[in-house]
Amino acid sequence: MATIKCIGILTSGGDAPGMNAAIRAVTRTARFNGWSVKGIMRGYKGLITGEIIEFHSNSVSNIIQRGGTILKTARCNEFKTAEGRETAFQNMKKEGIDALVVIGGDGTITGAKIFAEEFDIPIVGLPGTIDNDLSGTDTTIGYDTALNTIVDAVDKLRDTATSHERLFFVEVMGHTAGYLALNGAIATGAEAAIIPEAETGNDQLKALIDNGFRKSKNSAIVLVAENPATGGAIGLAKRVEEEYPQYDARVTILGHLQRGGSPTAADRILASRLGAAAIEALKEGQRNIMVGIKNGEITYTPFCQALSHTKTVKQSNIELVKILSI
Ligand code: ATP
Repeated sequence: MATIKCIGILTSGGDAPGMNAAIRAVTRTARFNGWSVKGIMRGYKGLITGEIIEFHSNSVSNIIQRGGTILKTARCNEFKTAEGRETAFQNMKKEGIDALVVIGGDGTITGAKIFAEEFDIPIVGLPGTIDNDLSGTDTTIGYDTALNTIVDAVDKLRDTATSHERLFFVEVMGHTAGYLALNGAIATGAEAAIIPEAETGNDQLKALIDNGFRKSKNSAIVLVAENPATGGAIGLAKRVEEEYPQYDARVTILGHLQRGGSPTAADRILASRLGAAAIEALKEGQRNIMVGIKNGEITYTPFCQALSHTKTVKQSNIELVKILSI
């Protein structure tokens, strides 16, 4: 295997708070080891268009506290084509980039897997998505910050829900996973979480109403994952209007608010550890793996396993929401 002298780094897919802390850690650890670093703008798009810039230690100064990503991000359909990836590879060679660190969600890791297999390039992935839907790590970069944003918003909604004795459906992100909805519900004392993991063969709304969720309460907040299987907050409110007109339902969709803001300490530490570990992994000759943290320890997970969706919300947490909302 050729020795690595220069790495490229990119952020791709949806932005997540903590991506900047990861960019900083990757850059500084690479520089510490004498490698040069090139920042690739706008995810895989920049690799295709050649929008690539030299990164120094001070290129990443004063960014650890900033949300978003200084490298920008994009969704790039051209990278899904063989021609697009060929152009990306030629640009990598032209720039002298020997290995890549990619930060993003499952789409980004999928792209990295295909690219690495096609061109035999060492690539290390970092889980950067608020959805927390990648296996091989307990949490992903951005998840904790998004969860705290949800808690903040729901605490505020509780005031108005209580004053008006209303049923609020609060839609949160997580199109394949209910982590934000479920753990958001636990953290805010919400009456229920409606999540894709619990939907199969279940009508969660009917169960909620049948259980008499408002028996002794004057307001109810239900966190809903945006997944089509759950109907989303709007779909559920429509059903309430038609099937349970005795309830006054309202909808709040938190949307892109959840991606923004300064990363929490937990996300900054996670991103810093993962960023440094990405360089250690490449030094050890690891390739085509995602770096994660499980039970406090750094782990390397092959891309295909990271994408396997074997990680799932804790069943006991689903029960916990029910118990604590009586
Ligand atoms: P998030 O979880 O926040 O949505 P993500 O990384 O899953 O982030 P996607 O838009 O799904 O976001 O993927 C990001 C990019 O990864 C795509 O725009 C595309 O460039 C690349 N990508 C995704 N799937 C593939 C694929 N099958 N082949 C090649 N590249 C892919």
